[in-house]
Amino acid sequence: MCNENLTEMKCIKCATKFGIDPILNKNLLRSGRTFYCPNGHGQVYSKPIEKKVTELENKLNKKNRQLAKMSRELSNLKSGTCPKCFKKFVNLQKHITNKHPKYSKGVA
Ligand SMILES: [Zn+2]
Ligand SMILES: [Zn+2]
Repeated sequence: MCNENLTEMKCIKCATKFGIDPILNKNLLRSGRTFYCPNGHGQVYSKPIEKKVTELENKLNKKNRQLAKMSRELSNLKSGTCPKCFKKFVNLQKHITNKHPKYSKGVA
């Protein structure tokens, strides 16, 4: 058996050392798939990429919700409806300046 160029691994459960092919090691690192020590203990790399994907998905969802809110607000403003009290006002600008001064400054 040829043992050269193997990446040395150590079992997280029984501390047995074993070697795996570096290419396989890379694949495991990327995919987060389970592999086994010679005694059959399952090992798994944490999944940095999957974590990143979830993180980005969450961020995207949040942005999408913000975007939906903004576009609702925009159509409200365009139709003369106060985005805060959801009522129509003849002079929306005046209403917002008087009733929601923070909103007009973009704080609320
Ligand atoms: Zn083991
Ligand atoms: Zn209002």
